[in-house]
Amino acid sequence: MNKINHQQTANNVETQSVERMKAKDPPTPSKKPKSPKPQNAVTIAVSSRALFNMEFEQQIFEQKGMEEYLKYQLDHETEPFAPGPAFPFIKALESVNEQLRNLYPDSEELFDVVLMTNNHAHAGIRLINSINHHNLFVERFCMTGGNSPIGYLKAYHTNLYLSADSSKVREAIEEGIAAATMFSAEKVTQVSETQLRVAFDGDAVLFSDESERIYKTQGLEKFFEHEKTYENKPLDHGPLKGFLEALGKLQRKFYAKGHRIDCPIRTYLVTARSAASSGSRALKTLRAWGLETDEALFLAGAPKGPMLAKIKPHIFFDDQMFHIEGAAELGTVAAHVPYGIAQKMPPKKTKDI
Ligand SMILES: [Mg+2]
Repeated sequence: MNKINHQQTANNVETQSVERMKAKDPPTPSKKPKSPKPQNAVTIAVSSRALFNMEFEQQIFEQKGMEEYLKYQLDHETEPFAPGPAFPFIKALESVNEQLRNLYPDSEELFDVVLMTNNHAHAGIRLINSINHHNLFVERFCMTGGNSPIGYLKAYHTNLYLSADSSKVREAIEEGIAAATMFSAEKVTQVSETQLRVAFDGDAVLFSDESERIYKTQGLEKFFEHEKTYENKPLDHGPLKGFLEALGKLQRKFYAKGHRIDCPIRTYLVTARSAASSGSRALKTLRAWGLETDEALFLAGAPKGPMLAKIKPHIFFDDQMFHIEGAAELGTVAAHVPYGIAQKMPPKKTKDI
């Protein structure tokens, strides 16, 4: 029975492909939508090493130099790269775009992805082949040839920059661009293909590091005291505030069409602050900014990894490597925001905020 069905399917496929040839209608590539203008879009710049797994190629570059690296890329031009740490996030952006296009066919308020790479044009062909192989919608390429990407990031009104190169990420943060370093995943968790989930730490990510400084220099008791005293004074903004704002702008487009509970974008605040003693300042700050996260988790110093494993975000942003490592161990794609006092001080083993 199965055999017959297979045979019928094969015949159908053959007939269809013959008809397609007659009609001169190639099956691929399918018609792709137009890229939005940078000033209307929420622009995500991603480096080639964040989007794809290029670890092997990176080793060739580091050990054998540029010429051998380019030769390898040229010889393997038709082999697509495997997905890298930012891949599921970029895929989810495309799914959100598709849902936005269905609701607002003429709007350019969409995500737009720019590939930022310091690769040579030879490697660029393999990148293009990989993008087509994985059916990604990435039309903008910036091949910076080793130069700083900052100028390009600004020209594209970049809302978020993701790279495997921590020095470039630091440079972007210093220029006031939301940015984070990505690491290759040890373990990969299956994430939603229809709902984009983004999780943020609070202090030194959405918020400035002003309270974190009190904690790091004067201890937990002084920190609680400080947060109680200044409960009604909003915190200053941190490097990722603008990205949460951009997500909020797109979320409201779904809400306006009746999709609040089933919104294809969901945001999370995952902080080591404790709810009773220091949580309200965080929530009041978001409220004062006119922003919100769909969920707020106050872990009171408990590890973030197990909670994130339940949320299954496409990306989690934190300023402390201790939390990044804890999240990554349990399969969450965690990106490091190199900002604030934690970058200058050795990590403590417990209760980091
Ligand atoms: Mg923090």
